[in-house]
Amino acid sequence: MLVAAHEFGHSVLMYAGGLSLSWGHKGSTNPITQSVKYSTPGYPEKGPIDLMKYYDPTKRSADLFRRMVDSAAMDIDVKRLIWGAQIKWTK
Ligand SMILES: [Zn+2]
Repeated sequence: MLVAAHEFGHSVLMYAGGLSLSWGHKGSTNPITQSVKYSTPGYPEKGPIDLMKYYDPTKRSADLFRRMVDSAAMDIDVKRLIWGAQIKWTK
């Protein structure tokens, strides 16, 4: 489920921001090599986990998996999805 959500998210990021946003995992990885950047922080200690970012895997909290499952799409990605859907409102 998490992998499916992540892979679907790539299509949203690709449409909204292109390769660097999508393949670069929102700036957390090198878009070509997919290696995690040195500047990439560890997982946030509280709150939702952005499934479209990579984090420093050496910094994990015990409840990480539950927080990943509980995390909805990030607000910015929901906005990107709505923008990309090109919804036309009618009366
Ligand atoms: Zn990915």
